[in-house]
Amino acid sequence: LDIDDFKSVNDTLGHAAGDQLLVQFAERLTGCLRGEDTAARLGGDEFAVCIEVAASQPEGAASAQRILEAMARPFTVSGTDVTAHVSIGITIAGDSTKGSIELMHEADLALYAAKNAGKGSFHFYEDGLHHAVLARLERRGDLEEAIRDDQLLVHYQPIVNLENATMVGVEALVRWDHPTLGLLPPSEFTPVAEDSGLIVPLGRWVLDRACSDLSRWQRRGNATGARPFYLSVNVSARQLQSPDFMSDVADTLRRHDVDPRWLTFEISETLLVQDSADVLSRLRAVHDIGIAIAVNDFGTGYSSLSQLHNYPIQALKIDRSLVTGIHGSDLLGDQVTVIRVIIAIANTLGLTLVAEGIEEDSERRQLRALGCTYGQGFHLGRPVTAESMDELIDQATDRPGGDRRTALSTAAAPPSHRPSA
Ligand code: C2E
Ligand code: MG
Repeated sequence: LDIDDFKSVNDTLGHAAGDQLLVQFAERLTGCLRGEDTAARLGGDEFAVCIEVAASQPEGAASAQRILEAMARPFTVSGTDVTAHVSIGITIAGDSTKGSIELMHEADLALYAAKNAGKGSFHFYEDGLHHAVLARLERRGDLEEAIRDDQLLVHYQPIVNLENATMVGVEALVRWDHPTLGLLPPSEFTPVAEDSGLIVPLGRWVLDRACSDLSRWQRRGNATGARPFYLSVNVSARQLQSPDFMSDVADTLRRHDVDPRWLTFEISETLLVQDSADVLSRLRAVHDIGIAIAVNDFGTGYSSLSQLHNYPIQALKIDRSLVTGIHGSDLLGDQVTVIRVIIAIANTLGLTLVAEGIEEDSERRQLRALGCTYGQGFHLGRPVTAESMDELIDQATDRPGGDRRTALSTAAAPPSHRPSA
């Protein structure tokens, strides 16, 4: 077993907090086992459990599930609640004559597979797994090459006003045009990028490309009178916390002559839960240079409501899971209630709301009726290449120039300009 994101706890809350977490983790782990089982810490954030009964897959899965559930509850370290999910790799000795070293190696490979399948899960060792792991490692090397050799590209998805379908912004979404595998979505390579730290140069590349595109669109728009729109870029926790982040951002903005007020950074909700002074000061620095901050996938379970108002946030993006099927729900149903609560929070804190993953017009209408102003989704516009966006802008020249300040740039104004509760 290995604690996911243990490094970020150490980095953000300090080593003493990391130590506390390890102690509590170990206590909970032993609490999940029977007296005859053995638990050990192998080093760092790696633990091992040996279950000495005639074990079968179902029994292994049940034990793993029990551990995952026990670790899903937050830990309190240095007075802060932190979520520390665990990944588990399992191998079964059975009747084999495999020695402990070989079994540990198999469990290690299974752990690696578990992490790649998505953190907070378990995976059994199976023959051929080492081939899969080798492929992942190869992908890491390939990815380094991809960043260097311009194999990455950015697609843009419109963010629109739900009332009148006007495009107010675009979200930059990275793709990898892999030489043999074709066009890969971020889910195929951002986990590897996160683990290896490659997410930092990758994110820097995306920001650079997206700002270069935005700058071109703004010049075209100025010439033709097309309505301006903002650019939203996903920024991973690791990227945000990297030492050179602020200077990279400033440098990119300068190079492409982009006004930061047209830029929004999308950050993960989990970043706020860490309640770290470093994260807060980094977000303040982003906000201070005029870039808006949006919380991505809001409402997926990590949100720490008490933290929201402490952070310089301007927008919440309501997660697709809360949006899908909203048209069918009755007005008192759970899903509608959750959306209503999110809308009330946003209104109280003066935050802009963007609903993600709108696939049906009925969903758009329902969200609009509930009071959500902006949205994004296949129904409103799929992610498209920069070239297609060029064409869209050229077609939109007949639109009135309008007010230069769009939705999120208004929300990006200093807090004193926020609508009061
Ligand atoms: P996200 O920020 O939640 O982005 C929205 C994702 O939902 C995109 O997937 C988009 O294609 C998809 N989507 C939009 N509308 C719909 C819809 O109506 N139905 C469905 N089923 N899906 C819809 P994509 O492009 O695969 O990106 C996945 C995630 O990868 C993003 O989720 C974001 O968290 C991450 N990501 C994308 N680009 C970057 C990047 O440059 N840097 C970092 N760090 N992460 C990125
Ligand atoms: Mg996003």
